[in-house]
Amino acid sequence: MERIDNIIKGIAAAPGITIANAYLFFKDEEKIYDACVTDIEEAKKILDEALEKSKRELRKVLAVAIDKMGKSRAAIFEAQIMVLDDPILIKTLYKRIEDEKKIPEYIVNTEFSKYLKLMNESKEIYMMERANDIEDIKNRIIRNIKKKKWLSRISEDVIVVSKNLTPADTVLFSRVDVRGFVTDFGGLTSHAAIVARSLHIPAVVGLHEATKKIHNGDQLIVDGFKGIIIINPDSEQLRIYKNKIEKLYEIDSELIKLKSEPAITKDGKKIQIFGNLDLSEELEIIIQNGGEGLGLVRTEQMFTNSEDFPSEDEQYILYRDLSERVYPHSVIIRTFDIGGDKVLPVDVKENNPFLGWRGIRIMLDNVEIFKSQLKAILRASVHKNVKIMIPMISSFSEVKKSNEILEECKLELQENNIPFDKHISIGVMIEVPSAAVVIKDICNEVDFVSIGTNDLIQYLLAVDRGNDIISDLYQEFHPAVIRTLKHIISEGKKNKVTVGLCGEMAADTLAIPLLIGLGLEQVSVSGVVIPNIKSIIRNLNYKQAKKLAEQCLELKTEIEIKNKVKEFYHKNIIDDYENFTQ
Ligand code: PEP
Ligand code: MG
Repeated sequence: MERIDNIIKGIAAAPGITIANAYLFFKDEEKIYDACVTDIEEAKKILDEALEKSKRELRKVLAVAIDKMGKSRAAIFEAQIMVLDDPILIKTLYKRIEDEKKIPEYIVNTEFSKYLKLMNESKEIYMMERANDIEDIKNRIIRNIKKKKWLSRISEDVIVVSKNLTPADTVLFSRVDVRGFVTDFGGLTSHAAIVARSLHIPAVVGLHEATKKIHNGDQLIVDGFKGIIIINPDSEQLRIYKNKIEKLYEIDSELIKLKSEPAITKDGKKIQIFGNLDLSEELEIIIQNGGEGLGLVRTEQMFTNSEDFPSEDEQYILYRDLSERVYPHSVIIRTFDIGGDKVLPVDVKENNPFLGWRGIRIMLDNVEIFKSQLKAILRASVHKNVKIMIPMISSFSEVKKSNEILEECKLELQENNIPFDKHISIGVMIEVPSAAVVIKDICNEVDFVSIGTNDLIQYLLAVDRGNDIISDLYQEFHPAVIRTLKHIISEGKKNKVTVGLCGEMAADTLAIPLLIGLGLEQVSVSGVVIPNIKSIIRNLNYKQAKKLAEQCLELKTEIEIKNKVKEFYHKNIIDDYENFTQ
């Protein structure tokens, strides 16, 4: 009989199967050890770099804070920078490394803790408040020391097991060839899951007790199709999964042959498939798999290695490179969608970050940062294949305001004789329900819209996209979602505005017939799934899909819609991966 006692089940977040050893990663709770160093100069250098980096970060924070909160309230950050410049403190830190020969994070921790203890003991409110600032600085320095070091400690070919992962962690791990991700928390459309998918690294999230049940060095099978983990598999389980890996390889090699074939339904309706780019590294796979351009460039990637806003020139270099590499296809560059579960380069604590300072809201509050990004995109548009897209739009006024700022940027470039595409297309993400409701008005101001189902579903249904506890309420096939999609697509058509969809729903093979049936003609998905999505579309009859959509629009519950979609799928579509998911 098949063994089940070593299997744990979670949410299938990134498809694929991998077999490797576990590496437990405890980010926030990592202890600071009283460890010795052999190379004192190296230890001093690491401290030096961490102090410099912390200062740079704080200067950026200060600039944004002045803009946002005014000079006097931003003064706390100025005070923090002054601490980092305090010659006595810095000298003490270096001297202690020399004398005690201990790792820099240990020295920083113990040195700052001495002051913290005194401040907390003083019982004066002012002193105790200042202690929070000192604690912040201490943590920032330690984080910067560790960031430099943990990456090199990790060996390749491991499966990272963690309570939670940020998108930045996921990217950094991928750079040392991690083989899989396993987490206690997180949902299907959390950004860490999206990044794992785009990097083609199998991932299972929302396992609740993975970090308790798995030990460092355990052999694991990660089945990213079914969302299961097998801990220390027996020989039979290993045999089954090794066979599956071989079969997967065969299917992938077959599908890649579709690369130069169009994504066209059996009855001749052409659908465009673009790639979502979270990291520049993915471009190759999008091109290899036959993506017809980039439908979403998540520019937040520029914050992965740094918490600073990138300069206009740094951005220009990246955007120009993308534009040239995908030419003659086009590239849709989305302005920074920071906030939510993505990095926010400012120390702002929010109770509800997804409902808070995010995307265009931050940009409209920091016009200079917004302008530097728009100018970088404009400068990169000389080949006329670049488009601009704005995220988190929730009102017509935000679109108008963004357009005005874009016009200002164009004027400034013109005055300086800097070339750009004067007819550059501008579009917005439709991912906040209010934008979907006023889509008609928005269409008058833009050239295209792209539906962001990841957020649209979370905001429409009031279900946090990254929360595994309520993940069963996060429903793509909820009648409200389907009817809202229909509304956006129809209004776009009526108003002659191109409508695309770049959320994860477009990568769900089951959803494709319904989306095409609703009239969608453009999708953007992560590079690895392009061949499979294309093969589903080539299997499809548009007229039948349209009928399916009409029927689904009449249904009242998610379960009815899902069953209808499944029935259609099994009757009409040949899906090579079907055996893996069921
Ligand atoms: C979306 O919300 O669907 C989307 C594509 O954007 P992101 O996942 O980056 O929020
Ligand atoms: Mg979004």
